[in-house]
Amino acid sequence: MNIKDISRRDFIQRLSLFGAAGVGASMLAACGGEKQADPPAEEPVAEDFTCTDTSGLTEQDLTIRNTLQYVDASPDPDKLCDGCALYVAAEEGQNCGACTVIKGPIHPKGSCTSFAPKPA
Ligand code: SF4
Repeated sequence: MNIKDISRRDFIQRLSLFGAAGVGASMLAACGGEKQADPPAEEPVAEDFTCTDTSGLTEQDLTIRNTLQYVDASPDPDKLCDGCALYVAAEEGQNCGACTVIKGPIHPKGSCTSFAPKPA
């Protein structure tokens, strides 16, 4: 939609229906001032995401995570979470997996001091 196509009446109607924030976002999008959302990728797993949201963890969970020195990006390419026997792969549509030892989101390329290689 082009911003010139929005009449004053349309503007007022939209303002009353969606509120100023919605109209502002809509107008920005119409002006090209806001990046349109990309369509969802078929394969959501990418290397440019983080698994650091620990907001739902208890103090004890955080202590274990920190004590085992979990990092989102392993310093050792031979010790990656997705190569660890304790890693639980991400569910479909998710990027972060889980771990049977450390609570919270786990990056497949992360690591910790409890790394245990998957059996060959
Ligand atoms: Fe990753 Fe450590 Fe859990 Fe293994 S034990 S999956 S290396 S966080």
